[in-house]
This record gives sequence, C-alpha cells and structure tokens, in this order.
Amino acid sequence: MKTSLVILAHPDDESFGPGGTLAKYASEGVAVHYLCGTRGESGTVDAELLNGYANTGELRTAELMCAAKELGLAGVHFLGYRDSGMVGSADNVHAESLFQAPLDDVAQRIIDKIDELKPNVILTHDQFGGYGHPDHIKLHLATLRAYELKWGIRIDVTNWASIHRHPSIAITGSHPDAPALFFPVFPRGLIKFGVRLMPLFGQDPSKFGRNKDIDLAKIASWELPMTVKLNTKAFAEAKIRASACHRSQQPPSGRGANLFVRIFFRRAQGTEWHSQVYPAGDPKQLSDRLM
Ligand SMILES: [Zn+2]
Repeated sequence: MKTSLVILAHPDDESFGPGGTLAKYASEGVAVHYLCGTRGESGTVDAELLNGYANTGELRTAELMCAAKELGLAGVHFLGYRDSGMVGSADNVHAESLFQAPLDDVAQRIIDKIDELKPNVILTHDQFGGYGHPDHIKLHLATLRAYELKWGIRIDVTNWASIHRHPSIAITGSHPDAPALFFPVFPRGLIKFGVRLMPLFGQDPSKFGRNKDIDLAKIASWELPMTVKLNTKAFAEAKIRASACHRSQQPPSGRGANLFVRIFFRRAQGTEWHSQVYPAGDPKQLSDRLM
C-alpha cells in the first residue's frame, strides 16, 4: 500500500487546496495522511460557532476531523505548533508559534512523522506559501530542511519562478528512500482571471479572503511550473463537502462577494495542479509514482 504525507499549516489548507487530489488518491487505496502544522488558533471565527468548544483551536480541530472523513484520509496528525497569524500580529511573535520555532526543530518533528509513516510521496506548500502566509512558508522551508537532514538532499527553489520560462530547481544529492515531493499549485491563469473579475463585483483583488489579507494581484505574478495535471472531477463533491466542514472559515457573506467566490471556485473544480520538485525528471513518470 502506498502512503502519501500532506504537510500543510492549518485546518482547511487540505480542503481549500488539494482536496480533490487527496480524495482521489484515498479512493484509489492510498493511505493519505495529513500532518497539520497548527490548529488554526489565530483564525477569526464567529462567536456563536465557539459554542461547545473551549477555544478556536478546538473548534478548528473538530472541523478538520469532519473534512478528513469527507476526503477519506487515513490519519490526521499535528506538529504541535501554534498558528502564527500574519506578519505584524501578536500571534506572530507568540513563543509557541510555528513562525518563531527554530527551523531544525520543525524539520525534526517532520522527520519523526516520516520515520513513522514512511511515505512514498510528500506534498507541501510552495516557496511563496501559496499566498504568503508565514506558517505556509515556514513549513515549506522545514520540509526542504527535512530532506537535507534525513537524506542529504538540498533543494533550492529560490529562483524558481516564471521569469525563467524554463525554470530549473537546484537539487544536490539524491537518495533511493526519499519520497517524491510536490507542491500543490492553484492555477495562475485562474488567479489572473479573478484579478480582472473582482472589481466587477465591487471587490478589491488586493484584499481577498476572509481576513482580507490575500493580495491576488501579487500572487498572480508568482508563477510555478504546473507539471502534474490531475482530473479530480469525480471528487469535486467530496472537496466541496470537506470545505463546508470548515464552517468557521467560510468566505465572508454579502451578495457580491459570495457570487464572485462561487464563480471563481467553480472554475477551479475538476482539475488540480502540482509542481514536481523531487526528483527532477519526467512529470508523467512522477504522476505514476504519485500513486
Ligand atoms: Zn493555511
């Protein structure tokens, strides 16, 4: 049986991001494990949703367990850090936050989980942290550091962007036991489409998302090679159900915003993309290896 380990920062990153991919492989018999960096403690939630929960972290853990069931995950594990919020917030300087944790400590906790689960494939955040969240970037760096500490593989993606039409990643070293590594990628074309469309709905593309901290215009300029294309149409419903489990993190209400988000995400259903990172090589071979 193959195993894949998905290393992302918050309860909801698994569903809003590569949810279709996870559901697809889980349905094909892969043991899909989610290693979640934090419990999403600094997300803003409506007070009424906290009824019955001691705090935001507990509520969001329950939401994640609901999503894991919808996606068919084999297990949910926590790295044990605290959500760092965005740069400049009090959460960001909290001593137990993922952002403040020494990189090698985070990498070691990831290695411990790798030793336990022995994954064939690892998925984690790209170097931009998807939309720049400090926890996403930290987990990206810690996962690369884990490859270096455990298998002696150094992966440098700092210059990996679309300005190089044929981007290359600098990889030194290889190891037969090292799992294939992928970054889930949200299609840039779709983000550019969103940037053009949002003003028509009275929305500012530089203040996207529940916490208005996502700058879509900036993200549109961060291109990654989309090397693996997966047809996830059959799992769109599972992804929608899993996303709905994260009740506290739904997009803000209001007609314009809702309509926009619906159009935007409907376009995103059915196909999910990944960047192949390690090993470098034929992406077709790698999608076989992915499962
Ligand atoms: Zn996140």
